[in-house]
Amino acid sequence: MDRIHSLYLHIPFCTWVCKYCDFNAYAVLEGLIPPYVGALRHEIDIAGGELPIGPLETVFIGGGTPSLLTATQVRQVMERVRAIGLASSAEVTLEANPSNITGQAVEGWLAAGINRLSIGVQSLQPDALRFLERLHSGTDAIAAIRTARTGGFANVSADLLYGVPGVGLDTWLDTLQSVLDEGVQHLSAYELTVESGTRLGQEVRTGLVQMPDADDQLEQYWAAAARLEAAGYAHYEISNWAQPGYACRHNLAAWNYQPYLGVGAGAHSMFRRADGSTERLWNVKGPHVYIKQASEGGHAVDGNETLSAERARGEAAMIGVRLLEGTIAAREFPGQRQQLVGAGLLMESDGHVRLTRRGVELANQVGAAFLVEAAATQQGKG
Ligand code: SF4
Repeated sequence: MDRIHSLYLHIPFCTWVCKYCDFNAYAVLEGLIPPYVGALRHEIDIAGGELPIGPLETVFIGGGTPSLLTATQVRQVMERVRAIGLASSAEVTLEANPSNITGQAVEGWLAAGINRLSIGVQSLQPDALRFLERLHSGTDAIAAIRTARTGGFANVSADLLYGVPGVGLDTWLDTLQSVLDEGVQHLSAYELTVESGTRLGQEVRTGLVQMPDADDQLEQYWAAAARLEAAGYAHYEISNWAQPGYACRHNLAAWNYQPYLGVGAGAHSMFRRADGSTERLWNVKGPHVYIKQASEGGHAVDGNETLSAERARGEAAMIGVRLLEGTIAAREFPGQRQQLVGAGLLMESDGHVRLTRRGVELANQVGAAFLVEAAATQQGKG
């Protein structure tokens, strides 16, 4: 099996489940975090003994709200990560909610080995934060970024949401500018999408909420892209911008279709076997059942699938094409590539296939086209 250099740890707890969220997240269940941390530690230990892991170049503690863990709990988890092989130059990210970022927490996270903080700002505008059911204020979010930076984090990212009902272009750009003024090294801007199983999904279905139309969302997206590029941030993935040298290495590994281990409730893993096949595994989603299984046996796998070589190549192209510098993975699909170039969605340069501006707007369809060609090739062989 190929060695694994990336580790994702999922913390499924939040203080409150926001109405637009369809991540594997649960309102924090009293008393569940300590056994969860114990289960996580055991799963990491067992994986370290069974899999070719390390040195880990990237670790990402995501959620949910990982900043609900105490600094001691983060340190306990990181001890086990270090025990299975952590590179000294590894990027170690913790996702944090502004409400949890205090000087003391920052000190504890740094001491535990976290060196990148990804802060869920989402918005600074009071109405938008209320709409999104975020528990922090804009002032809290700015203070959190300052606390992280002055406390010693040299690599800080902020997540923002655009396309929020009631937030016009100017307000959105003001929010973006205020965050950039704080000197974050990295910024992710995601469109507020309506997922059917969420409360927002229901509100949109029943007409209680009207989402901005697609043109308005695109206007906000491209205006943000222009503002970010003017401020010296490279647009390296559809939703991600970074100052030079600060692209998220963990996500780059995923977009380059590198194997990774995921631990925690609902976490996915992807391994590449010695015969070249690709295997995907996923853990049980619920925290209670995860704790029981991972604590007892060190495993909590709920399912797995082996991908055909064609399917894996299709996925690599689908994911890789999100990188704005392009991907060589798409070269393996000459049929779709030509069609998409012809349709003005892709362009080719230096052996890489890259999205055009229109391609960025229709990236999901572009990616899906590679999967369709992969399936057709597979059928032809079968
Ligand atoms: S804080 Fe993040 S993960 Fe938690 S419910 Fe809100 S959007 Fe979902």
